[in-house]
Amino acid sequence: MTKKAKALVLFSGGLDSMLSALILKERGVKVTPMCFFSHFFKCDKAHLFAKDAGFKLRKEDFSKEHLKIVKNPCFGRGSGMNPCIDCHLLMLKKAGQIMRKEEYDFVVTGEVLGQRPFSQNRRALELIEKRAGLKGMIVRPLSLRVLPETIPEKKGLIQREWFYDIKGRSRKPQLALARRFKIKNIPTPAGGCILTDPVFSQRLKELFELKKNFNGSDVELIKSGRVFFKNNFLIVVARNESECKELLKKRKRGDLVLEPHSFPGPTVLVRRIKKSPRSEMIDCGIKLLLDYAKNVPEDPVIEILPFPKSC
Ligand code: SF4
Repeated sequence: MTKKAKALVLFSGGLDSMLSALILKERGVKVTPMCFFSHFFKCDKAHLFAKDAGFKLRKEDFSKEHLKIVKNPCFGRGSGMNPCIDCHLLMLKKAGQIMRKEEYDFVVTGEVLGQRPFSQNRRALELIEKRAGLKGMIVRPLSLRVLPETIPEKKGLIQREWFYDIKGRSRKPQLALARRFKIKNIPTPAGGCILTDPVFSQRLKELFELKKNFNGSDVELIKSGRVFFKNNFLIVVARNESECKELLKKRKRGDLVLEPHSFPGPTVLVRRIKKSPRSEMIDCGIKLLLDYAKNVPEDPVIEILPFPKSC
């Protein structure tokens, strides 16, 4: 190796990306693991595993761009609202921009040929590489020896024999590698993306049908509590004290927040999704608050919480 290569690794916190980073690090490549986050997934798991493996994780917020593809994916969705091909492509495009701007030599992913028959076959990998503007610039350490030669190999920055020829869905080769690298906490394959969660996906689908231009604040609101779409409103009923506090933090100007006065019951937040009178908004919120309250007195008093002055 003539110079110390610099690699930008898409690091999800899964075992495959972790191994990919370690394989390169072992060969003296300067590795920067990078994790994207949006309204739908965070870097918490990646942060923990990066720390375990001795890496400092770089976190990139791509919430705005990601929200756009969630609303309007070019390549369809998975079983929920997850636009996985568009999402992966977006991550690679962004990684490519960072690579060029900050003079990294190549981008690394933990992809394994044939692990996902639809998105990780030879054709799909080539297509996505081309569309991301990274032809020949993506290094996949786990499968590199069964894939075409990359530009960093041609330049002598990395050598083919450092890498592996893993193919298919079996996890055995990766587990063997994890033992070799003495990884104690092996990350589970399940990701933390709520777009694959059926309950959340259904909520998001309903929101999208009613409000095509929903925003990040709407997404945050439907993440917890009991969620209802009634008349022209999005209504969230808290299920416990911590959700009550959360709702207060998530409220925006124009939202209605109701709380029971002197009887046990939930905090309720009502947000308009279409033009409608405030009286209707209050009626809808009160009805749900009373449905989920206990020991309701004959003349219940319900408070409308004013919007905090400091906001
Ligand atoms: S599961 Fe979520 S984070 Fe993962 S590729 Fe699909 S949309 Fe993106």
